[in-house]
Amino acid sequence: MKENILGVDVCDQTYDQLASHLLSDIENKRKSFIVAINPEKIMKAQEDESLRNLLNAATYQIPDGVGVLIASKLKKGNIKERVTGIDMMMKLCEQAHLHEKKVFLYGAKPGIADEAKAKLEEMYPGIHIVGTLNGYEKDEKVIEETINGSGAEIIFVALGSPTQENWIINHKEKLAPYVYQGVGGSFDVISGRLNRAPAFFQRLGLEWFYRLIKEPWRFKRQLILPKFLIKVLKG
Ligand code: UDP
Repeated sequence: MKENILGVDVCDQTYDQLASHLLSDIENKRKSFIVAINPEKIMKAQEDESLRNLLNAATYQIPDGVGVLIASKLKKGNIKERVTGIDMMMKLCEQAHLHEKKVFLYGAKPGIADEAKAKLEEMYPGIHIVGTLNGYEKDEKVIEETINGSGAEIIFVALGSPTQENWIINHKEKLAPYVYQGVGGSFDVISGRLNRAPAFFQRLGLEWFYRLIKEPWRFKRQLILPKFLIKVLKG
């Protein structure tokens, strides 16, 4: 089921429910597209209709960001837990490993997707990561041929938002994979180039607080959260 938060759809499924939908999408050769939703994107979508349409065009809008969870609670919705982009990616890799589905990593600076591939192969020995491509390769023909030639069924696209979402919408019909997920900076995190907040902060939904301490200049971006919640309450 989907809930609509200020004009943007958000799914209320858990990781396991989403994983089983995604596997059945692959089995039934259906194309699907996962986008992570956070308060920042919802606020941008208020003024940007094309962004709103893009987010709503995804098959699964996952509730990334604790603000989305709070918004759902305020509106007596059903979203029970956060589904973060990176954890959804890990869940999909686990499923790909278990069910022998082929995975492709596209995006980030040269070398990073290969490092992320090596880390994922350590975590899920035997996983079929059938190709990688850096996010600065702009030759359309090379991109299409590399992805289609790999036989991938699941592709993670790490080009940043909303570039990756636009790329997915514009390419998925001519590409072979069935499942498309936009994952932002996740390859940088998986490769070990960028640290995620410690588990303690993650468990409490306080990753934003950890980032605020480490990168205080993000303060302005984080002011969006109270503005967003006030808008949800009024709306
Ligand atoms: N990136 C890319 N190609 C580009 C621009 C960016 O592959 O033309 C990559 C960049 O190296 C980084 C990711 O996209 O790995 C953007 O991560 P960010 O955390 O900024 O994602 P967002 O917060 O926008 O979801």
